[in-house]
Amino acid sequence: MEYYKLNSLYIEVTHACNQHCRHCYLDGGIHKKCAEMTTEQIKNIFAEFKAQGGRYVIFTGGEPLMRSDVFELLDCLEILGLRFTFASNSLGMNRERLEKLASYRCLEEYFTSILGATPEKHKAICGKDSFESALNAIRFFDEKGISTFVQATLAKDYLDDAEEILKLLSDFQNCSVKITPIASLGCKSETEIEENKELIVSPKQFAEFHKNLSELCEKYPNCVGDDNILSYQQISETIDEYKENPLYSLFWHSVCVRPNGDLSFSYNMNNPFVFGKAYESIKIPMDEKFFEYIDLLKKADELVLNDAKEHEVEYDTLVDKYLSVLK
Ligand code: SF4
Repeated sequence: MEYYKLNSLYIEVTHACNQHCRHCYLDGGIHKKCAEMTTEQIKNIFAEFKAQGGRYVIFTGGEPLMRSDVFELLDCLEILGLRFTFASNSLGMNRERLEKLASYRCLEEYFTSILGATPEKHKAICGKDSFESALNAIRFFDEKGISTFVQATLAKDYLDDAEEILKLLSDFQNCSVKITPIASLGCKSETEIEENKELIVSPKQFAEFHKNLSELCEKYPNCVGDDNILSYQQISETIDEYKENPLYSLFWHSVCVRPNGDLSFSYNMNNPFVFGKAYESIKIPMDEKFFEYIDLLKKADELVLNDAKEHEVEYDTLVDKYLSVLK
């Protein structure tokens, strides 16, 4: 039997979190439910991942610092020579932890989030004073020449903060920013969103947001992450480039391990397609079921491409499109 070769692994080492963001979609965070794999189970996953040719790990949560063995797990990645991104909301970051993280040869990038242009707005979404600690962490890594990536997830009332956030971060040499609105495009009506005072942007706001963000991309070309918005041209060129590869789909790029061990294709919850329990094995057999799954993903590629004819699409909305096809 041939197995799918994993190059990168997205692992949610816990869903426990010291923040409770209002938009959190995980079992932990606001829902406070949290299965967790053991230290040994995760170390075995890393070893198997390395042995089958894996190269890169996205180490995330929840908040990874909630695990008391977090540095033991990172030591394991270092020993195996697996490069990694470390994702944290930065609330629990102190000088000692920052120094420890920066000491890893394998640390490729520090990932954190900012949820509004001021500490007050940020706190209104996540409930904690982590704005300054996020900035401190970005500054710390920037001075050391280590890349940082900031996810600026904006509630509907804060969409206009995008430029302030970019200004705030534009002096850092090694920092890129992804500005994204909260939640999915078009899943609720304008009235419903208004009546329930929800954080998510309405379809109308989304279009306006895209227009403004395109202008900001031109104004801050070295700062805005280039996966913010995908145009028809970008998507069709990518599909064209890889179309001869039987396994290729736009969304087939990394496999995710969730805290209960579920091995699935994306970062999103409610994913109906689980390959098995990662603590048993991360080997994904390339059998009939697997190819059927790739065909479904390719159908979703087509839908995404069609959408992009009408308007540019934001990366996170792609996930919903794929899940709608898989269900
Ligand atoms: S920091 Fe992340 S995991 Fe924690 S509550 Fe916020 S969105 Fe959820």
